[in-house]
Amino acid sequence: MRFGPHETPSDRPSWFEPAEPAAPPRRPALTASAEPSRIAEWAAARCDEIVGDIRGGLWRFTEGVADVLFPGIGPAVGSARRATKWGPTLVGLNDGRGSDVKIGLIGSENLGLWAVLRCRLGQSDHGPRPGWCADLPLGPLGAEGIRAGAVTISAIEDVKPADVAPLLLAEPAVGAETRLLLRVDVPGRSGVVAVDAGDGVWQRRIFFTLLHPARRGAGHHETYRVVCPVCGRRRLAQFRGFDVCSDCGWLHTQP
Ligand SMILES: [Zn+2]
Repeated sequence: MRFGPHETPSDRPSWFEPAEPAAPPRRPALTASAEPSRIAEWAAARCDEIVGDIRGGLWRFTEGVADVLFPGIGPAVGSARRATKWGPTLVGLNDGRGSDVKIGLIGSENLGLWAVLRCRLGQSDHGPRPGWCADLPLGPLGAEGIRAGAVTISAIEDVKPADVAPLLLAEPAVGAETRLLLRVDVPGRSGVVAVDAGDGVWQRRIFFTLLHPARRGAGHHETYRVVCPVCGRRRLAQFRGFDVCSDCGWLHTQP
């Protein structure tokens, strides 16, 4: 994973290209009958079937920025990385409900470090605007490296087309140079994952926020809610230090 700017692909024409290049190939348009089936397939999928192949990238990014967002956590993250044989836990909060929006958590109970995420098939959609969804501009990328005073931190990772296919409406071509852009707003600790399907266009696909809630003795809740104040449903998932609505992603951190 590279943090910082990405070299722009050269657009210098090569000698064998025609002087008047043909219009760039369009991505195959979905037929009227294909789209509902793709949505049905997505809705039936578990969160890990959608984001499982990029969770490693999101988690490496989380580890990379953790000490800037949560000063002092760096040594714990470093030792956990050395000690842990397995990757981070991925929990799909609304699996099995047939939703075309997936709400998930990637993280480590031991570290108390989590990424809460929300994604929707082929769309940039932060839904009922949970407070943690930062709709960041995707450029420019700025200077390379992670600096303590940074306002946003970005990273780019090359990924396999199959790893990001579940996030896209149309699957990228085999051999496409697919990439992930991860970008977080440091003060808000929230960010966006964008996918380049190989055509150089960044498509926002996942919104996320990073959490390191203060340790609460025995998970005691100062307040206890039953109903989500945003969507009105009653399926709040409660974790040590925070609650998440498993339907819309409303998030409440314990004070
Ligand atoms: Zn809700």
